[in-house]
Amino acid sequence: MAGSKGMELTHIVTGGEPGGGIPTIRDHIQDSLDVTVTEVMGIGDVAPSLFGECPQQQGMHFCGGGHVWVELVDPDSREPMTIEAGAVGELVYTHLTREAMPVVRFLGGDIVRIEGSPCECGRATFRMRVIGRRDDMFIVRGVNVYPSAILAVVGRFRPRVTGRARVVRKTTEVSVTPPVPVEVEVVDGHDADAKLRAEIEDAIHSTLIFRAKVDLIPEHTFGESGYKTKLTVKRP
Ligand SMILES: [Zn+2]
Repeated sequence: MAGSKGMELTHIVTGGEPGGGIPTIRDHIQDSLDVTVTEVMGIGDVAPSLFGECPQQQGMHFCGGGHVWVELVDPDSREPMTIEAGAVGELVYTHLTREAMPVVRFLGGDIVRIEGSPCECGRATFRMRVIGRRDDMFIVRGVNVYPSAILAVVGRFRPRVTGRARVVRKTTEVSVTPPVPVEVEVVDGHDADAKLRAEIEDAIHSTLIFRAKVDLIPEHTFGESGYKTKLTVKRP
């Protein structure tokens, strides 16, 4: 951050990763840097920028009206759903104005929750939050679970944890029998902290209603995040 007042960091726009839409991660960035955080999202095959969050921080507004037709469908049955507050489904995109390689009813792979419309900012387009990638979803006792929900719970345990976590999937089966294996990155000195492990397991159980088996992983062995953060790892 530059020393002159005019150059101070006041606002951060996040994109390409779920963090900016997860309250514990957003709050951590805002509090530690004294900034506001909003998020944006685009789909590589559709448009580089399609959704953007306004200063109300109530989810990302759809900004592609007139160029992209967007629909919401049930992720399993692909039946159309109404875009209304509280609806959870997968977004589907159709180009209206692109002449070279337009996509028609393109499944984006993101599962979103519609936050509603209009907004105090004056925009009337629907707002949404991404709750996970369809490929990352798994089912515990009939309930759909996204790893980002686990990330939101784990984030409460800062500063003992770094905020990174991932689900270990032992088979390619979508259905996972609890306890669900979860690896949580911790700061030095906490990798043998049995109390912390039990607290995280209890928090996941009380918040997400399934049992998890938490492994605490030291920062230096958790691995680099690479181009995209992997919230799920497949490991036999
Ligand atoms: Zn708004």
